[in-house]
Amino acid sequence: KKYVYTFSEGRAEMKGLLGGKGANLAEMTNIGLPVPPGFTITTEACKEFYKAGRKFPEGMESEVQEKVDWLEQILDKKFGDPNGPLLVSVRSGAVISMPGMMDTVLNLGLNDQTVIGLAASSGNPRWAYDCYRRFIQMFGNVVLDVEHHRFEGVLEDQKHKRGVQYDNQLTAEDWQEVIDQYKAIVRRETGKEFPQDPVQQLYQAIFAVFNSWENDRAIVYRKIHKISDDLGTAVNVQAMVFGNMGDDCGTGVAFTRNPSTGESILYGEYLTNAQGEDVVAGIRTPQPIAKLAEEMPDVYQQFTRTCTLLENHYKDMQDIEFTIERNKLWMLQTRNGKRTAQAAIRIAVEMVEEGLIDKEKAIGRIDPAQLDQLLHRRIDPGVKLDVIAKGLPASPGSAFGAVVFSADLAEKLGEQGQKVILVGTETTPDDIHGMVAAQGILTSRGGMTSHAAVVARGMGKPCVCGCEAIKIDYENEQFLVGNQGIKAGEVISIDGSTGQVMLGEVSMIEPELSKEFLQLLEWADEIRTLDVRANADTPEDAARAREFGAGGIGLTRTEHMFMAQDRLPIVQEMILAADLEERAEALAKLLPMQEEDFYGILKAMESLPVCIRLLDPPLHEFLPNAEELSVEIARLKLTNGDAGELKAKEELLRKVRSLSEFNPMLGHRGCRLGITWPEVYAMQARAVFQATARLVSEGYRVEPEVEIPLVIEVKELAYLRQLVEQVAEEVKEATGVDFHYTVGTMIEVPRAALLADEIASQAEFFSFGTNDLTQTTLGFSRDDAEGKFMHHYLDKKILAENPFVVLDRKGVGKLMQWTVENVRRVKPNLLIGICGEHGGEPSSIEFCHLIGLDYVSCSPYRVPIARLAAAQAAV
Ligand code: ADP
Ligand code: MG
Ligand code: MG
Repeated sequence: KKYVYTFSEGRAEMKGLLGGKGANLAEMTNIGLPVPPGFTITTEACKEFYKAGRKFPEGMESEVQEKVDWLEQILDKKFGDPNGPLLVSVRSGAVISMPGMMDTVLNLGLNDQTVIGLAASSGNPRWAYDCYRRFIQMFGNVVLDVEHHRFEGVLEDQKHKRGVQYDNQLTAEDWQEVIDQYKAIVRRETGKEFPQDPVQQLYQAIFAVFNSWENDRAIVYRKIHKISDDLGTAVNVQAMVFGNMGDDCGTGVAFTRNPSTGESILYGEYLTNAQGEDVVAGIRTPQPIAKLAEEMPDVYQQFTRTCTLLENHYKDMQDIEFTIERNKLWMLQTRNGKRTAQAAIRIAVEMVEEGLIDKEKAIGRIDPAQLDQLLHRRIDPGVKLDVIAKGLPASPGSAFGAVVFSADLAEKLGEQGQKVILVGTETTPDDIHGMVAAQGILTSRGGMTSHAAVVARGMGKPCVCGCEAIKIDYENEQFLVGNQGIKAGEVISIDGSTGQVMLGEVSMIEPELSKEFLQLLEWADEIRTLDVRANADTPEDAARAREFGAGGIGLTRTEHMFMAQDRLPIVQEMILAADLEERAEALAKLLPMQEEDFYGILKAMESLPVCIRLLDPPLHEFLPNAEELSVEIARLKLTNGDAGELKAKEELLRKVRSLSEFNPMLGHRGCRLGITWPEVYAMQARAVFQATARLVSEGYRVEPEVEIPLVIEVKELAYLRQLVEQVAEEVKEATGVDFHYTVGTMIEVPRAALLADEIASQAEFFSFGTNDLTQTTLGFSRDDAEGKFMHHYLDKKILAENPFVVLDRKGVGKLMQWTVENVRRVKPNLLIGICGEHGGEPSSIEFCHLIGLDYVSCSPYRVPIARLAAAQAAV
């Protein structure tokens, strides 16, 4: 086995073996850039190291020795030779760059003898001792494990003693004093002298790099970022070049384009007479890179040329480290630079325009999840935040408003035009009207798929969930953070993209789709074959969806319309009706309201399909809470309250109890409501068709799709379809207007999936309701899973992802694929889509593309993300 590669033996493609840093050093070497020579010990060696119980693999050391000999020869320097010591850096280099791994050691090879030689031969003792003190500190810290803070103070004291401000004002003698103290610290902390043998120094450093792969910080980082534990790290050993030899020297970092805006302009900083990390460490204030053009014009020229060359070579924006030694440029690192979403888009689009990459590549470069930040109002990145608590980033975007603790109050204040943040332990379907009215939602309990999170994302409203640091004290109308009380009415700001909660109003910036973003989406539309629709329950949402490029509505939930404060009592009347007549009265009141709802949405989506789902949720969501009612009844009794009111409440409680269900999710809901109370679905169908007829007669082209939820059997659908058709005929007759519509169903329980080919005979379209399909296929109730056991499944890696967030391809996905194949066999043209949260999640969208769905439907704010993800799936 070969464990060690010189830079000239490697290539960029060998990242897995050489790590990111090593592979790119090799690539730069091979395209002829000035890179100090060196070699890379492979990740393979690191893996063997662990297999053998933290021992170097057999043969590695002799290979290293060989390469050291080679370095000595080409540089005409020798490890430990006082007349010309070889000095190297030892740099860790994981495949994926990872903070928490061992830091770099520079100037390795120095000792009490070589430093004297270096000082003499260079005629620059200040520099030589500066290098040595850096080396002792870095090696002491990262290899010998002497805590950082032990070394701190010494340098400050020395500067203080000399009355100078900056490190570079200290003299050789000063550094010698510092060195003596550093060595004493090492002696005290480790019980040993600072190691003097350069070869031993080298192996100790290599050992430390391998070891750092499994330090706590690295392990935690990998866990959070889902990086495999078996990748291992490489080690790079590289000849030193020096930016700290004088004023014709320096070190710096640069991005080939601006990483926050994407503007194509060299962006970076450098420091003269400095080494390594001085630039980032903030020892002195660095100069902007443009200044280099004045200070060292030749080097600057060479540097800009190199940057262009690297960009053209990698065809991506580069993040570069360089050092200038006596007016000579050396390249020390390059990698694809990290960037904001905004910059990512601009860079990708401009690189297409410059002919560097093609559209497909540009599309592939953008992480759809990152776009989220651009589609919402966000906190001005320039302001310093005073964060009082942090929860889960449940729904992106930022908002501020006065704290309110009840949905009713939120609605009331909202109607008066006040900005409010709804704060509570959690939210329930009863709170919808308050959530609609609030600018944002903050809960102390519940996870990323809790009610508050799901609903907020659907509405595109900022939400911070599970913020356990806040304690809600409903009694005193306040919440507590530590012992600070924040009262109702006080203004707070929340950032649903980070989970942060701040006091007061924080300055925010509005989202805007830049021209590059629009260009990119246009290309995405050319490439994708999957349609993207939106879930929208109001004309405003529909309009927004259209603005963001939705090709229709994939789900309009009628229940949200029933939750509005002015309608809920009528809906309750309808549910609690003693007989058909009573129910008919309530329905008659609801009909015109629903007609207006549908009129607005269909009009906003004119010429595009709108899928309207008939009433679906468990009825208890519309009814008063039995416990609260009992409490009120008890109170009325105790206070000898109004007898009439008491009687009414008791009657109501009896009815609520009689409607209560053991398992409402599997209870009287979905098309079962239509089967038991056909008049309800008939009313809704009538509202859809009357709105349609009106719009058609006004000259609009509308395409309503009437959707029957929770079907398990073709006969259910046949029965309800007939009902809908009959209403349609009646409306056509009454209005004299002819119109087109389709009828279809959701596939959201396994039986429907299994019998989909039969069910297809009664449908023009299917829509996978993957929220319910996931619940019923796994037999997990979503709310219970989130709160109680899901994290155990994820921690123990029994499930790789939360199936309510990322579609479970293996189980639910298999059922979907099977369904699509069977249905297409009997009815090739049946329209098939997906609604539910997965429709906006990139990996799930990819799956939908793969199994041949016609469209995905997601919340309006996720439409651009879905357009991009659909294009990525297609390339
Ligand atoms: P990190 O991954 O933390 O950036 P690096 O290994 O890139 O660590 O190195 C830390 C600093 O030391 C960087 O500024 C780098 O440019 C500098 N450095 C690394 N190796 C050398 C070398 N052989 N000569 C001069 N400077 C070096
Ligand atoms: Mg670096
Ligand atoms: Mg459902």
